[in-house]
Amino acid sequence: MSGKLYVVGTPIGNLADFSQRGAETLSACDFIAAEDTRVTLKLLNRFNIKKPLISYHEHNSREREDTIIGRIIGGESCALVTDAGMPAISDPGEELVRRCRELRIPVEAVPGPCAFATALAVSGMPSGRFTFEGFLSVNKPSRREHLLSLENERRTMIFYEAPHKLSSTLKDMAEVFGDREIAIARELTKIHEEVVVTTLKEAARRYEDAAAKGEFVLIIGGAPIRPAPEVTADEAISLAVELSADGALSKSEAAKTAAKRTGIKKGVIYKALTNIDR
Ligand code: SAM
Repeated sequence: MSGKLYVVGTPIGNLADFSQRGAETLSACDFIAAEDTRVTLKLLNRFNIKKPLISYHEHNSREREDTIIGRIIGGESCALVTDAGMPAISDPGEELVRRCRELRIPVEAVPGPCAFATALAVSGMPSGRFTFEGFLSVNKPSRREHLLSLENERRTMIFYEAPHKLSSTLKDMAEVFGDREIAIARELTKIHEEVVVTTLKEAARRYEDAAAKGEFVLIIGGAPIRPAPEVTADEAISLAVELSADGALSKSEAAKTAAKRTGIKKGVIYKALTNIDR
């Protein structure tokens, strides 16, 4: 093993989920870059792996990336891990991987569990198309803006959330999204694993006063397809009259625009418009 970055997925709770290749990679690399060395040490102890560790987290990332990249260029192999799941997924790693790629340093995947994919797979929610939104901001206006930007999102939406913010997040989501279906996946792969499928309003009620404990993934159903409101020919003609008032648009253009907006045939609108003046 030389001059390479290995991006290694680690368990999201149950250490028995660590892959054989993950363990082999950590055993064979020259050093491990870990989000929290104490957490990774527990994993190493479980698999009898002894390896030098350096910390790499959001507060020291730039300086540590320089060190890690320097060592890899010098011929060492580095395994990047975080506390749980895949590095770079709501976790440190993205920038290190990007810089390695820019420098043409080989990057190899050693995949492991990922909380959002695991949650989606056991939720029973539509999984054909989805959007992963990570954590909402702690800042109230930014959170709201983020949620409002998703109001009409048709795909299934996946969020990570911390227990102390769960109650207010569910309340905000119920307000913005209405009473959609939600799956709350808690403590996946751990003793208290639980997946509750309910509605957003019910979920907001359920966690209103109860102190939430554990780690959560929230999966929200996409916006329902609303049938287009029925527009009558009279309404389409009124719209065209408005559009052509004071010569703003020619009759033909007004009829065309009104037809586009309402779905009523242009010819019907145009004929009515021209008859009005007679
Ligand atoms: N890199 C990780 C991954 O691949 O999923 C995510 C790390 S992020 C800092 C931690 C968040 O992931 C938690 O707050 C929770 O939302 C989710 N998470 C991690 N482990 C989980 C578990 N066992 N059950 C439910 N959610 C989990």
